[in-house]
Amino acid sequence: MKSELLTALRSTKGFVSGQELCEKLGVSRTAVWKGMKKLKSEGYNIEAVSNKGYRLLKSPDIIDAEELKSIRKTAWAGNEIVYFDVTDSTNIQAKRLAEEGMPHGTLVIAGCQKSGKGRRGRGWESPKHDGIFMTLLLRPSFPPAKASMLTLVAAIAVAKAVRIKTGLFAEIKWPNDIVINGKKICGILTELNTEIDTIHYVITGIGINVSNQKFEKEIAPVATSLMLESGKEIHRAGLIEEVLEQYEFYYNKFCQTMDLSEWKEEYNEYLVNRNRPVKVIDPKEPFTGIAKGINERGELLVETEGQILAVSSGEVSVRGIYGYV
Ligand code: ATP
Repeated sequence: MKSELLTALRSTKGFVSGQELCEKLGVSRTAVWKGMKKLKSEGYNIEAVSNKGYRLLKSPDIIDAEELKSIRKTAWAGNEIVYFDVTDSTNIQAKRLAEEGMPHGTLVIAGCQKSGKGRRGRGWESPKHDGIFMTLLLRPSFPPAKASMLTLVAAIAVAKAVRIKTGLFAEIKWPNDIVINGKKICGILTELNTEIDTIHYVITGIGINVSNQKFEKEIAPVATSLMLESGKEIHRAGLIEEVLEQYEFYYNKFCQTMDLSEWKEEYNEYLVNRNRPVKVIDPKEPFTGIAKGINERGELLVETEGQILAVSSGEVSVRGIYGYV
């Protein structure tokens, strides 16, 4: 009922009459009145005027499933939304939900994570209500070898959504981080469940620092938040919705060609490492060079000793020569 009420209130800038709400939702006047009372108690600022009805003036910074459903504009991303106030990790929960048969497009959201995950067993600092902790569950029909490109789909979706919603100059540190002014505001972790030539499911976890004011000592030099960078409060639900819209857009284009050729150039404009010296920390053989951009397979092209090497994301980390980017 909460998401239907919010959708109805958001369908107009003006008032919605009580009668209209009863008809739209198929409930009694008392039920509408109770619903409004509950919304107000959660922090929604709703004006009620006799003979006119109700008008939503302002929404609180809530990201539960009902709120997100009421603002969703996508065709499939977020078609099912599962919200946890506190959880271990949205990737862990998404895996569990995938095993239970939840569909392609399912979105898992948490208010806070107790054991947020980074790549190769590292952690992701996930303090209560300061960030966005979301995982998208996908059930693609393409072969497992293509799946690493999904991290790049998520990266461009987040960078673009952040630019749209905050005006901040978000850039991509290939392959899985989003940075602003050289500091990290987002990490992406894609995990797969596959057989030799089929994908059972893919989960892509996205952690965004939104209103963090400070970070643990170890990451403070390389981490920042949207609030620290913009000085403004950012509405998390609106940003999540924009990320889903952008994700769907780039994912659909990716599926048309099964590579990144449709938006490779655009991605390269977001690439913080482009034309900069980088250190490629390959466990087999680390090397330095100049990052030139990505190719249509999502590999990073690095010029070194007169030749261009294509680096695939797998086990590799990329750093700037003098610091993080
Ligand atoms: P790589 O380039 O090798 O992937 P990374 O440092 O970007 O390195 P990730 O796995 O993407 O590694 O992210 C995990 C790391 O990010 C942690 O080890 C920690 O250094 C840092 N980190 C953890 N939480 C946050 C956060 N909330 N904001 C920014 N950085 C964080």
